Amino acid sequence: MSYFELNWLHKKDRAISMPRLVFFAAPDCGGLYYYPDNREKLIGDKYFPLDCGLIVISPNEDGAFMAHSLAHEWRHHWQFFERGLTGGSKWHNNGNYEKAIISYFRRHLHEWDALLYANRMAPCSTSLEWERWIRR
Ligand SMILES: [Zn+2]
Repeated sequence: MSYFELNWLHKKDRAISMPRLVFFAAPDCGGLYYYPDNREKLIGDKYFPLDCGLIVISPNEDGAFMAHSLAHEWRHHWQFFERGLTGGSKWHNNGNYEKAIISYFRRHLHEWDALLYANRMAPCSTSLEWERWIRR
């Protein structure tokens, strides 16, 4: 990923080092983020170093949702550098999708922050609906 592709980034955030970007079908979600770490992560059949952080984006026919996921995962990268956040949050859809979305984003404040950020930078119909559900 180069800075030329990130013209939507705030100028002051361009000082943050670029994470690696991999396109891989992450199960049941649009994307994943791994904080910078001194190890490697197996994605599919390849190991990727986590030294500068790693964003995994699920290829999806809905390009708007991919852009939203990229903005969301980028926000986690930003949270790491600007807020020192390293908390993980596993996503579980236990049958009722709407309830699962509401509880996920209400339980994890850094996820709510990432949703709001991504809805500002790269909104899509799905993510705007999530925000409506949560605010109701
Ligand atoms: Zn997230």
